[in-house]
Amino acid sequence: MTYTVIHNLDFALTVDPDDRIVRDAALVVEGERIAALGPTDEILATYPPESSEAVVDGRHLGLVPGFVDTHVHLSETLSRAVFPDNLATRAWVFNWAKPFYAHVGEEDERVGVLLGAAEMLRSGTTCFLDMGSQHDAGITVEAAAEIGIRGCTGRHAADVKPAEIPRGWSDEMVEHHFFPSAEAALEVLEDQVRRWDGYADGLIRCWVNIEGKEPCSPELHVGARALAERLGVGTTYHLATSIEEARVSERRYGVWPISRIEALGGLGPNLVIAHGAAVADDEIPLLVEHETKIAFCPSSSLKLAKGATAIGRYPEMREAGVVVGLGTDGCSAAGNMNLMRQMFLVAGLFKDARLDANQIGAQTALRMATIDGARALGLEEEIGSLEPGKRADFVLFDLDHHEWTPFDDPLQALVWSVSSASVAQTWVNGRPLYVDGRVTTLDEGPLRVEARERAAAIVRRAGLDRTSIPVTTTLYD
Ligand SMILES: [Zn+2]
Repeated sequence: MTYTVIHNLDFALTVDPDDRIVRDAALVVEGERIAALGPTDEILATYPPESSEAVVDGRHLGLVPGFVDTHVHLSETLSRAVFPDNLATRAWVFNWAKPFYAHVGEEDERVGVLLGAAEMLRSGTTCFLDMGSQHDAGITVEAAAEIGIRGCTGRHAADVKPAEIPRGWSDEMVEHHFFPSAEAALEVLEDQVRRWDGYADGLIRCWVNIEGKEPCSPELHVGARALAERLGVGTTYHLATSIEEARVSERRYGVWPISRIEALGGLGPNLVIAHGAAVADDEIPLLVEHETKIAFCPSSSLKLAKGATAIGRYPEMREAGVVVGLGTDGCSAAGNMNLMRQMFLVAGLFKDARLDANQIGAQTALRMATIDGARALGLEEEIGSLEPGKRADFVLFDLDHHEWTPFDDPLQALVWSVSSASVAQTWVNGRPLYVDGRVTTLDEGPLRVEARERAAAIVRRAGLDRTSIPVTTTLYD
């Protein structure tokens, strides 16, 4: 088989079980996988450049595994900086995001996925878990496959309408999002998985995703997890996303959300809980027992005041053995889809909050952004670290860049000093998808023009006027 050699890399951060850092490294890519990684002289003795299909001179380049975004809404990409800056989670969702989603058409959704995937590749993200399409999951599946990025998606689903439909929720959206029963929702979600899971030779997975919390019945939470298990896929839903949600749960059911769903039988190893900000100390053993994963979204927590540092128990969950990945949430909730920012934030948030410099830090932050994210998605045998046999999903950083000048420890430089500005290349499944400032599978210029026009039209259609829509809500209280 033909192979590509990238040699004389300044460093490779493998994120293997020993967190090995190889200096003067060479990487061999054979088809979709990593064939070898090690010191350049050893690798070139086995894989001579003259027999290779392509040779890349890796001098002034640093190699890192592709980042894994464990919670993102690709439907939200066109809503950047549209809503006010003083919204907490529930007002954000019900008064603003839902009306926005109600006016995202199928073509808007496709453009949003392409644009969002481009932003991810530009910041080194090679795999995502998307909460789900506003329309058929096939829109997201096909658009992601067209770009070549790896990902898991689904179709948006809920089954508990609010007592009163808020301003801006269109009839079509309500009808499409809210199924008459959990069974009706699960029937459609099963059909989506059967149609789309494994698309593009397995690059794209389709999961049994639901919105979660108040808009979903207990039967839908429990049923989604059970259906996903039966179909051999994952499931993800929002839960314990904010202190507001925990307070409502306590008032109504006497317990916080994780305890409630656990008692109903909704937790399991194939579940990724988005956020998990309001988790009590005595709920952590429940997550451990059921091997349920958490997607922590630092930017979204900061912007929507979820309380990551005030009430969040993320370091304690990790300590106890819960797999905690990182997510960006979305262009409106977080302001960006850049996982490198989440890695930077998680490295430092808890040092500061706990007045303890031993919290999280660079090494753990990198693991959360890569191998722990892969574990959350059940893909740790395939991605998340640079090891022979794994998929060739990786990022090359340009070290001849002000962000890297000078540096000693590449790990600390990556987490504390560097942004996506010095990402030189992003590869997925053995293919270079972002090289020297261009996404190779997309004509980004015309896409940006179209995205700007479509975003403005959605805001107009949805009537999202920052001066007249309430910034608080009591919906579902
Ligand atoms: Zn979300």
